[in-house]
Amino acid sequence: MDLDFASRVQRVEPSATLAISNLAAELEADGVDVVDLSVGEPDFDTPQNVKDAAEDALEAGKTGYTPSNGIPELKEAIAAKLADDGLDHDTDEIIVTPGGKQALFEIVMALVDDGDEVCLLDPAWVSYEAMVKIAGGSLSRVDLSPHEFQLEPALDELAEAVSDDTELLVVNSPSNPTGAVYTDAALDGVRDIAVEHDITVISDEIYKEVTYGVEQTSLGALDGMGDRTITLNGFSKAYAMTGWRLGYFSGPEQLVSQASKLHSHSVSCAVNFVQHAGVEALENTDEAVVEMCDAFEERRDMLADLFADHGVDVPVGDGAFYMMLPVDDDDQTWCEGAIEDAHVATVPGSAFGTPGYARLSYAASKERLREGVERLAEHGYL
Ligand code: PMP
Ligand code: GLU
Repeated sequence: MDLDFASRVQRVEPSATLAISNLAAELEADGVDVVDLSVGEPDFDTPQNVKDAAEDALEAGKTGYTPSNGIPELKEAIAAKLADDGLDHDTDEIIVTPGGKQALFEIVMALVDDGDEVCLLDPAWVSYEAMVKIAGGSLSRVDLSPHEFQLEPALDELAEAVSDDTELLVVNSPSNPTGAVYTDAALDGVRDIAVEHDITVISDEIYKEVTYGVEQTSLGALDGMGDRTITLNGFSKAYAMTGWRLGYFSGPEQLVSQASKLHSHSVSCAVNFVQHAGVEALENTDEAVVEMCDAFEERRDMLADLFADHGVDVPVGDGAFYMMLPVDDDDQTWCEGAIEDAHVATVPGSAFGTPGYARLSYAASKERLREGVERLAEHGYL
């Protein structure tokens, strides 16, 4: 029987990041030793206190549905964290989701109608484009690659790319895939443009806690941004909890109440005992986060030095755990070759809207990173 698929799914491809990591996993299952620098996932285990909190919650029978938008304890802990970041949100302006990705999906589905324009800063994480397309929106894009991936020098281009017709702008700092942390002056510029054209902004702050020697300002804390910013965060990256699937977003009450319809009709709620572990992560895990960030910073520096030894200058950022390695214009072929010949998995920049680069995640041990660079050099990829 021929199934007649909805156009919304036919408009998009599967996630490139997950597709490559699946390919790497398949090769490994066939006995190939792959240096997998593709998927953005901390190589650390979830901190023990968080695991203990989940076990305690399970023992205490926290296994049923929860209130759809999240347990009060977690929403309160999130509201307190947001207040520390300068964001003023009551618990009824927060939805706890199974992963940050679901949060983004609900926001986009609640705001973007057929034909609505959404602006992305390229390179931009793969799922923004896909979600906008699923919602039927159109994209305008600003290329940050000529500016070493910084936003401040591209503000004029951003001002040109948007108009009164722009519905939504997505800002992700620290950035996946570049690691760039946008300056406060850049965020002020975003504020001015958003206010001028009455644009709603998604501030994807999932890497906010993963920075090296700098602090990421929350966009929603700027004057004039409180009622037009939706702030998204999650537990995957800062607390090494990718598989737990826990995230959240906060924003104006009206948006939260519309999005909560999508939430309650799709996922019902995030997992009960996982939400209890989330409280522990937010309240008692600062030390583990610092340790992980220190390790990422060392790896970033080591990797950039190794590439420099091979004559490749890689622009590095002060956050997240990614860098964009300049490669051939045909980055797709380069990445396919790198995985097939050198058994090093990376993601083509074109998946993020910026061809000519390969994204590397340096959330891997120093030995594996060294091995990856050696293999790329040996096989003529550097
Ligand atoms: N935003 C960005 C920029 C990301 O890189 C990710 C990574 N998956 C997410 C959101 C969502 O993460 P998760 O669903 O694991 O919380
Ligand atoms: N965000 C991570 C990445 O970009 C995880 C994979 C995904 O969700 O796309 O690699």
